[in-house]
Amino acid sequence: MHYIEAKSILSSQNGMNLYRGCQHGCIYCDSRSRCYGMEHNFEDIAVKKNALILLEDSLRRKRKSCMIGTGSMSDPYMPIERTLRYTRAALELIYKYGFGATLITKSDAVLDDLELLRRINENTKCVVQMTLTTADDELCRIIEPAVCPTSRRFDALMKLKEAGIPTVVWLCPILPFINDTVENIESILDMCSQAGVWGVINFGMGLTLRDGNREYFYAKLDRHFPGLKSRYIGSYGLAYELPSPNEKALTTYFHRRCEELGIVHDNDRIFAYLNEFERKSNTQISLFE
Ligand code: SF4
Repeated sequence: MHYIEAKSILSSQNGMNLYRGCQHGCIYCDSRSRCYGMEHNFEDIAVKKNALILLEDSLRRKRKSCMIGTGSMSDPYMPIERTLRYTRAALELIYKYGFGATLITKSDAVLDDLELLRRINENTKCVVQMTLTTADDELCRIIEPAVCPTSRRFDALMKLKEAGIPTVVWLCPILPFINDTVENIESILDMCSQAGVWGVINFGMGLTLRDGNREYFYAKLDRHFPGLKSRYIGSYGLAYELPSPNEKALTTYFHRRCEELGIVHDNDRIFAYLNEFERKSNTQISLFE
């Protein structure tokens, strides 16, 4: 871990990443692709040491409240968060200034901040986005080795439901010849239904690979799935998009099953929901509490 000085913290879409790099080790992670220009080892986390000062300054100067997002490039609840608590401090600022929050994670460490998330949601809006790729914990430990398996993420979704915090699930990536089965999609959607998940995002039943993450992914295939790399190369070459051979059937099933379960499955509608700021309570939040 090392510290860096950031020039700014909020993107034009009000997203932020307090850390650069990620400790979760997902074998397919796009964030390790070379196009992002990371100059250090992906697991050597860069902590933006002035992130909280920059965030407070941005929130104070914003004329209109809005949703603030985090988690698109690195998981806000990777192990380092347990000692540094940058995500929690950022959420406290979001609460203090009356903004809404949405974050993407694979970790049940999000429950460490349950009370704070609940307070944000009571006042404005807080949505937790959780990624689920496989219903099989053993497979999960191979493809997402350094984060809690799906069963614990499901427990976290249930606890968020009990706390009245809305959730959205990212059902991706779907890895060809690995987790691209109807049974897997069915089991994940059943969990989503039980946990009262508001919507499920899916960008196609497949995977994307670019320079940097492709080499890493193939090295992991060689280690855990002997012979599969040559099947990938034979099927996809150096393509960016790697749709599952079952893509059509899985997509049809996904939309039909979401309809049956009453889960929103239109990506545009889900992103509109995630971006839509709401103020629920009339309580004035003191800036000095
Ligand atoms: S949690 Fe997300 S950012 Fe972290 S390694 Fe996995 S895919 Fe990459």
